[in-house]
Amino acid sequence: MMKACILDRDATLIDVVRDDESGVITTAFHPAHVRILPGVVEGLRILRDDGYIFAVASNQPGPAKGHFRVEAVERANAALVDLLRAEGIEIAHVECCFHHPEGTPQGDPSLIGECACRKPKPGLLLKLQSRLGFDPKASWMVGDNEGDVRAGAAAGLKTGLIFALNRCELCPLRAGVSSLERIRPDVRPDVHGANLVEVANQIVAFA
Ligand SMILES: [Mg+2]
Ligand SMILES: [Zn+2]
Repeated sequence: MMKACILDRDATLIDVVRDDESGVITTAFHPAHVRILPGVVEGLRILRDDGYIFAVASNQPGPAKGHFRVEAVERANAALVDLLRAEGIEIAHVECCFHHPEGTPQGDPSLIGECACRKPKPGLLLKLQSRLGFDPKASWMVGDNEGDVRAGAAAGLKTGLIFALNRCELCPLRAGVSSLERIRPDVRPDVHGANLVEVANQIVAFA
């Protein structure tokens, strides 16, 4: 049966977007924003050569908060898929949660409220599993925060955590994996590393 590596998007595959003028940090909502992080292409090649297929599972609450439109996120996602394809990496599907429990008055009201797909819930991963037909027991969820690890475990996948130091001001784990142990002692990734190469090598070696 097929094995998959499901990847978080922001701060896992691509960098967050910083506006140097205002200091505002956001997530990519334009193709020009998409900057693949160091180690991503090499890490994905290691996993590809070990037989993994790839998909992306991403929380994108921006449209529910009125920050930008769903279509803008989808264009940025398409740019990411194209950039990776040019490196010989195929992304089978990108699944996003566009919801947010509270939203804002400017947000799309149809996207505001509880849903079954926003990580740490497993909905995105369950959708990908039924769409792509991979074996959950042989598959992994890799991301940069607690919600990725919890969603992966809830969907029956093994989990990898990337916690690069000094990389992302948004990342609650920027102090390292020990910060996760403080925040959520019950959340334990199966492997962790400072970038996708380290995590990929551990996934390939995982017994
Ligand atoms: Mg992330
Ligand atoms: Zn959702």
